[in-house]
Amino acid sequence: MRNFSDVGRIVVKIGTNILAPGGIPDEKRIEKIAVDVAALKKRGISPLLVSSGAIGFGAIALGLDNRPKKVEMRQACAAVGQPILMEHWRKALNKQGITTAQILLSREIFDDRRSFLNLRNAVESLLEIGAVPVLNENDSVSTSEIGDIFGDNDALSAHVASKLDAGLLVLLTDIDALYNSDPRYNPDARMLKVVEKVTESIRSAAGRAGSEHATGGMITKIQAVEVAARAGCRTVLADGRQKNVLLRIFNGEDIGTLFLAGPKLGARSRWILGARPKGEINIDEGAIKALNRRKSLLPKGVTSVSGVFEVGDVVLIESRYHAVTSMGSEEIRRIMGHHSSEVQTLLGPGRKEEVARAEDIVALYQ
Ligand code: GLU
Repeated sequence: MRNFSDVGRIVVKIGTNILAPGGIPDEKRIEKIAVDVAALKKRGISPLLVSSGAIGFGAIALGLDNRPKKVEMRQACAAVGQPILMEHWRKALNKQGITTAQILLSREIFDDRRSFLNLRNAVESLLEIGAVPVLNENDSVSTSEIGDIFGDNDALSAHVASKLDAGLLVLLTDIDALYNSDPRYNPDARMLKVVEKVTESIRSAAGRAGSEHATGGMITKIQAVEVAARAGCRTVLADGRQKNVLLRIFNGEDIGTLFLAGPKLGARSRWILGARPKGEINIDEGAIKALNRRKSLLPKGVTSVSGVFEVGDVVLIESRYHAVTSMGSEEIRRIMGHHSSEVQTLLGPGRKEEVARAEDIVALYQ
């Protein structure tokens, strides 16, 4: 039996396919989720909803047959659909005597400490007054063309759960669980009830990004699970069409797949992992071994650098680590391959010899 009695805050991500299956908004389903949300609140739990559907509801309102592909059209749909989506939530939650609050997010808000603290203060105040925040990406203005985006609400909900200290993340979708292989192609595929740790075989069971199965969103869900797990937050992936699904999950029923939390990383390590890298550093075998033994990265082991970044920026190392660099990209280009004893001669007196200090390097995968 699962036990979530220690959970005080829960983030629930609801996909468009649950809210508007086949392109038709399902008011009854939204109302049912609101009933469960109210029941959770009565037990003293604070739910935060991450609701998709802005683009989908906008496309429906504009009479478009398919989800638009052009960025400008998706922005327009989101601008039309977001208030419609919120109206559905407001009506449904209002029936339960709950005040609804809208929060639109962009990736930068999580990367910038001051914006993040503003967000946290707003959320804390809303929870204190008993409102239920409904969050979504600010799709009408945040596009990959003009900045960093989450792009999917699996990632967004995981960041919300991780940074706002939720004990449980629930991903409600139209897939009932994670299987050990794709059930559409393999009749022997087995449903996984509990995943203790996301391993390489779990990632490959979820399908490669861009595959048909992944557009159902499995790979982004697994990535979300990993972000949440590093914050000590468990995740349940379940079919959001099931009756009283939220309440039953919370009551410990064996619904969907439960992903256990990993050891909770410190706030700084989580921030390093969550930040968008400004550049990439490639390193040789020896340096990879050193980093695996939690040592610093020295100039000798660097083989190439891409991008332009400053001291203190987060960079990607060999697609395996995120690190805060102690040197800018130009400096690294000047000293890469050189012995540490040459750093002061090449970069000037008083300079530290590390490209990144051990405590500033965090592995993406455990
Ligand atoms: N933010 C998008 C929307 O509201 C949804 C992203 C997703 O499907 O995860 O339409």
